Amino acid sequence: MRALVVRPPVPGVELVDCPAPERPAGSIRVAVRECGVCGTDHDIVEGKYGRPPDGASFLILGHENLGVVREGDPAAPEFAPGDLVVATVRRGCGRCRFCLANRSDFCETDAFTERGIRGAHGYMAEEYVETPDYLVRVPAGLGPIAVLLEPLSVVEKAIDQGQRVLDRKEPTPGHPRPEAARALVAGTGAIGMLAALLLVIRGYDVTAVDRRGEDTFAARLLGRIGAKHVDVAAGFGAVGARRFDLIVEAAGSTAVDFSSIDRLGPNGVIVLTGIPDATERPVPVPGGQIFRDLVLGNQAIVGSVNANRTYFETGLEDLGRIEERWPGALASMITSRRPIESYREVLLSAAPGAVKTVLTIGVGAPPS
Ligand SMILES: [Zn+2]
Ligand SMILES: [Zn+2]
Repeated sequence: MRALVVRPPVPGVELVDCPAPERPAGSIRVAVRECGVCGTDHDIVEGKYGRPPDGASFLILGHENLGVVREGDPAAPEFAPGDLVVATVRRGCGRCRFCLANRSDFCETDAFTERGIRGAHGYMAEEYVETPDYLVRVPAGLGPIAVLLEPLSVVEKAIDQGQRVLDRKEPTPGHPRPEAARALVAGTGAIGMLAALLLVIRGYDVTAVDRRGEDTFAARLLGRIGAKHVDVAAGFGAVGARRFDLIVEAAGSTAVDFSSIDRLGPNGVIVLTGIPDATERPVPVPGGQIFRDLVLGNQAIVGSVNANRTYFETGLEDLGRIEERWPGALASMITSRRPIESYREVLLSAAPGAVKTVLTIGVGAPPS
């Protein structure tokens, strides 16, 4: 079968022929239809990150996936040939209590693997094999947008973590909140835009910031869903005096993180999802001011990574909700679909203005 492979830490990516995986009893064989491309893939292709499976000389890339069941198993009658499926990404260490409870996104040993990222082959190939535990069945109607389920699962977890921190306050019976809770989303890439959609669905008054001006796809989509867009190229002053209950950081920029922490309201929480470059030049920060405000304002900073199966399942429900409320909005976020043969242009540089680029693979006739 054809597969896109990398050999980290050597930069680069190639389309190669390699043997299709064996299917052990109890597993499902899936024909990949398409894979989304994200910043993690670019980092791996640049050699900054990524690890082949033990004993292998290369790693098959790709973690944002949508496929079609090609071969089922009598032990898993719920998966029939032709069914659409999305596979989760992380595989537990098998030792810690979180992995044993199917919540490897909270793994405590760092011995987990991630398909397409570290220690396990990914999905940018014609086929993969997986056990039913890690496969989520997708209703046919959501096929055109289901490649967004994996990134959405990451957003589902991040917002859930933030909400849990906000909910630590005792309820105030008889004294309801006078206005909608406010959320700020920093960054308007795919993760930021999915966060904005989800937060509007959850009833938040949403503001999203980036540094790309007003004439962008993201700014227009934010307008359509009733969220505010603010260009902060000249600084966070453009946001005005507003303070926020929940900030979702999806920019991966330390400078943006510290600018946005300053916008936390009383009892607020900022959830960080972007992964800054650990080798970037140190950013000077007013540490005393930030920690003082955190203490005096009961505020919290929370990091959130990956997502367990539960978040794929809530994500599937929310894909349906978002599609119902703003038909076509999610499909429009897939700014281009390119055949796997175009992998060089897609993976070696990020197209300006693209929200989500998707590679179509194998039998993967793209949904029209
Ligand atoms: Zn991704
Ligand atoms: Zn673990």
